[in-house]
Amino acid sequence: MKWLGAHVSAAGGVQNAPDNAHKIGAKGFALFTKNQRQWNAKPLTTEQIDGFHAAMERHGYQPHQVLPHDSYLINLGHPEEEPRQKSLNAFIDELERCHQLGLDRLNFHPGSHLKKISEAQCLDYIAESLNYALEKTQGVSAVIENTAGQGSNMGFRFEHLAHIIDKVEDKSRVGVCIDTCHAFAAGYDLRTEAAYQQTMNAFDEIVGFNYLQGMHLNDCKSEFESRVDRHQSIGKGNIGLEGFRQLMNDSRIDEIPMVLETINSDIWNQEIEQLYAMVLSAA
Ligand SMILES: [Zn+2]
Ligand SMILES: [Zn+2]
Repeated sequence: MKWLGAHVSAAGGVQNAPDNAHKIGAKGFALFTKNQRQWNAKPLTTEQIDGFHAAMERHGYQPHQVLPHDSYLINLGHPEEEPRQKSLNAFIDELERCHQLGLDRLNFHPGSHLKKISEAQCLDYIAESLNYALEKTQGVSAVIENTAGQGSNMGFRFEHLAHIIDKVEDKSRVGVCIDTCHAFAAGYDLRTEAAYQQTMNAFDEIVGFNYLQGMHLNDCKSEFESRVDRHQSIGKGNIGLEGFRQLMNDSRIDEIPMVLETINSDIWNQEIEQLYAMVLSAA
């Protein structure tokens, strides 16, 4: 079973996210557990935590159907020690918030070298940060998202993800999330069956499907290999429907949250329906 959904709003409190997911017919979803554009957040209240658990239960969502996303400010590979430490503290706080909500994974963007250090050094810092954060917390896996490679963002090659995983000590608590728009913009083609298979086989060889703990389903407004991150509604961008048809029928991708971050939230319910309709029945 594929757990399709979207990155839903948690406005008014995290306890509202499962309701918002249910409203659009989602079987999985993503959320921010704090304001993604601010460093500081008030701790979650008992009311919010209890409300979240109750809403999860009400709609029958399990923890592994949910892929929380961390703040955009965090850079675990920051070239300078002080900002890197600040990011690390914020990341630990995010892991703890997920744990309080009974969730088991946290999706994050690996980090940026800001043109001050080498790519390899940046990846090493990210792995070092993860080792520290995982040791200070429990129960939640760190899920590395591939990026489009815009600016100095790392994570645009599958080798970058493998490099980080290789240096993480507790491999049971590290995973990856493939964002289809980011992959396509970074030069991994998904437009045809052959291109899709080539990309996913490369992923399996370099990283491995055993690490895949989530996906972001986005079509791409930007060009192939442009290294520009611009999401588009499913079927309306440069990837096109065939790539998503392949994905929906790929048995290697199963029982993980698959989250739309497409630009028009008004049609998420239709996109979810459209994607489920692509699944070819075995009969
Ligand atoms: Zn992301
Ligand atoms: Zn994404």
